[in-house]
Amino acid sequence: MINLNTSEQNTWCPGCHNFVILSCAKKAVSELINEGHAKHEDFVTVTGIGCHAKLYDYINTSGFYGLHGRAIPTANGITLGNPKLKVMTFAGDGDVYAEGISHFINAARVNPNYALFVNNNKIFALTTGQVTPTSEKGFPGRSTPKGNPFTPMNPVSLALEAGASFVAREYSLDVKNLTETMKAAIKHKGFAYVDIIQPCITFHNFTEYVKDKMYRLNGPFEYKKAMEKAKEWDYSDSADAKIPVGIFYEEERPTLSDLFDNKNWSEAYPERKINSALWERFKV
Ligand code: SF4
Repeated sequence: MINLNTSEQNTWCPGCHNFVILSCAKKAVSELINEGHAKHEDFVTVTGIGCHAKLYDYINTSGFYGLHGRAIPTANGITLGNPKLKVMTFAGDGDVYAEGISHFINAARVNPNYALFVNNNKIFALTTGQVTPTSEKGFPGRSTPKGNPFTPMNPVSLALEAGASFVAREYSLDVKNLTETMKAAIKHKGFAYVDIIQPCITFHNFTEYVKDKMYRLNGPFEYKKAMEKAKEWDYSDSADAKIPVGIFYEEERPTLSDLFDNKNWSEAYPERKINSALWERFKV
């Protein structure tokens, strides 16, 4: 039995949903190892900055505690350096949907081979409650005491639009389904994005709202239907919202690592004319 615990003192608020996400991540890793899918030494945990990022301290894998908004380029580099690694990238909504949004869009576009889990509590929690791009309009965050004037973005439909090859949404307290979707995301060949709705019980507790509005998808779907489902919830707090959870979309296509492998480049995109002399200069 692999011991995925660490000796670091846990500083999350008592009852924080991050405890459950951590536990699901450990269960997913443990089961994938036991099922022979990967070895313990294959796993790498990458984080950004925020409450989510302490996961780096609490799970016994190799890892990289990244910069704010920069978990994605860090993970890109790791997976390009060694495509055989199983990279689990964790980020927060204030982290990846604000400062890191260009990395998010381009990762979806170029398909690096790793899982991105976004612990989305619709707030900057570590800094005690400022609004993020997924905060609902009117939310009185610390930076907007008269209410958030902005409409939230929908990161799930954005991921689909940008070309993500695996797109899912889960809820932080649904242990069984969150674990299964994490395993599917880690096993997926390509950029596997999971938006984990994780109410912050200290600064933005919308737990009852999610539980009331959530329903499970029987996906994955073909692209058009996946987009329709993704648009069912606009990340607002409207009274008649429906929040679909589960896998929206999955496809296989060449990964970033495939495209940077000189041998596979022409196979992946035979219509492209590669300047092989130039490529040889930059090849590592
Ligand atoms: Fe969890 Fe919120 Fe506390 Fe951060 S501030 S540890 S997200 S409950």
